[in-house]
Amino acid sequence: MTDYSNIETTSGNRGLSFEEPLIFELDSQDSTAVDLDPPSHDMDRLGGLRRRSPVGLPGLSEPEVVRHYTRLSQKNYSIDSGFYPLGSCTMKHNPRLNEKMARLPALGDIHPFQPESTVQGAYKLMDALATWLKELTGLPAVALSPAAGAHGELCGIMAIRAAHQAAGNDDRKVVLVPESAHGTNPATAAICGYSVESIPGNGNGRVDVNALTARLGPDVAAVMITNPNTCGLFENEAKAIADAVHAAGAYFYMDGANFNAIVGRVTLSELGVDAMHINLHKTFSTPHGGGGPGAGPTVLSEALAPFAPVPFLVHDATGLRMVEHAGDKDAPQSFGRMKGYHGQFGVFVRALAYMMSLGIDGLRQASGDAVLNANYLRVRLSEELTPSYDGICMHEALFDDRFLKDTGVSTLDFAKSMIDEGFHPPTMYFPLVVHGALLMEPTETESKATLDQYCETVLALARKAKSGGMAEEFASSPQLTPRRRLDETQAARKPVLRWKPEPLKHAAE
Ligand SMILES: *Cc1c(COP(=O)(O)O)cnc(C)c1O
Repeated sequence: MTDYSNIETTSGNRGLSFEEPLIFELDSQDSTAVDLDPPSHDMDRLGGLRRRSPVGLPGLSEPEVVRHYTRLSQKNYSIDSGFYPLGSCTMKHNPRLNEKMARLPALGDIHPFQPESTVQGAYKLMDALATWLKELTGLPAVALSPAAGAHGELCGIMAIRAAHQAAGNDDRKVVLVPESAHGTNPATAAICGYSVESIPGNGNGRVDVNALTARLGPDVAAVMITNPNTCGLFENEAKAIADAVHAAGAYFYMDGANFNAIVGRVTLSELGVDAMHINLHKTFSTPHGGGGPGAGPTVLSEALAPFAPVPFLVHDATGLRMVEHAGDKDAPQSFGRMKGYHGQFGVFVRALAYMMSLGIDGLRQASGDAVLNANYLRVRLSEELTPSYDGICMHEALFDDRFLKDTGVSTLDFAKSMIDEGFHPPTMYFPLVVHGALLMEPTETESKATLDQYCETVLALARKAKSGGMAEEFASSPQLTPRRRLDETQAARKPVLRWKPEPLKHAAE
């Protein structure tokens, strides 16, 4: 078969995949997508601040704008276009019903400044969501306002800090975090002024309970444990950890980002959890991955509930009422406000729609199927790949790079080669506790046919890598994408957000 993969085309386009210029490069100043009368200068109230040079925006007609953005959107890989096994991220199908609910005018068009009497329905929805979250976790209180998982961690640790302050425990300055933790855990503790100490793993991918209990003492404020953890394993000694933490006068924060593996099956209050965030956008299906919006409601134990952030809802004679101010009679010990308005309302609607359409039995089945699918990958891929730990995993399967030993192929090369095969790579090099990690989370929404296709592809790539002499080929993948390997670190650290530097200088002459 002739290889057309490197063929040069006259236009630079490849089939129906376009080489899309920047919108500024498409600029033809004589086009415009809007038809407005020129502004009247009598209306100018800008005084000396009126712009004298052109604003520098590209001139394009409406069809040009539509095509530009549609083409760009087609370059974006998404859960709607294919399998997305990114570990720790829970990229699962987002039922369209949730979207439909979130767009109902009565929910989508309301404003947080409306009088309370006109938004009682929205309050009822938030109250119903809070009830579900409390039922599903067994914890008595929930703060709905945190805007993401990391923000929920911040909420939990701020409540813990407030509780220690209220009890006069000023000497507790340390937060213990296992070495496998998601980076947001130590970051949260540090931002709250705690020094972070790392707790080693035990060789089975779980927290070393002896090391942890040995470190507990009067200077420890809290322990943050992810469960199921970032190796995809259940911390089966969580209860013993919680008991030891409580006996030492500290609080037990559980990172609940992986709640999708245990929802409907584990009562967190029985595990001794004091605070836990839930990523609604992961477990309860909201489109995410492009920077939001998400939501990270945080459930709190009896001991921490008085310190919950405002705003929160209370029931009174006239209906539901939002308590807005810390220090008021309904919130005397609240640590304050974390966010403008009331939280990510659109995400609340989606989460509640998902919960109500599945029901508790459906949610329970979803977590069971997520775990089943991950174990299917673990077992099938173990034919060629090296699983990091023995035994059954939870919602994600973790492999390391031992299977690539002596092949010259790195985890990165291997993952990039999956792109040419039409699969989004799994999470790479995380968690840090295993070498060259590949962390795969299939979620419950993938069919066996998709998982089989993925397994066959990954197994074939592994056999190819092991066949020898393939290092160069893997190192040059992906070959079939519009762009190949980008310097992602540089892009994140030094983003170039303007394509030409001049306009700003003249912006407000
Ligand atoms: C996703 C995740 C977080 C952070 O959640 P965001 O909503 O991205 O802020 C924290 N911990 C774990 C284990 C996660 O998987």
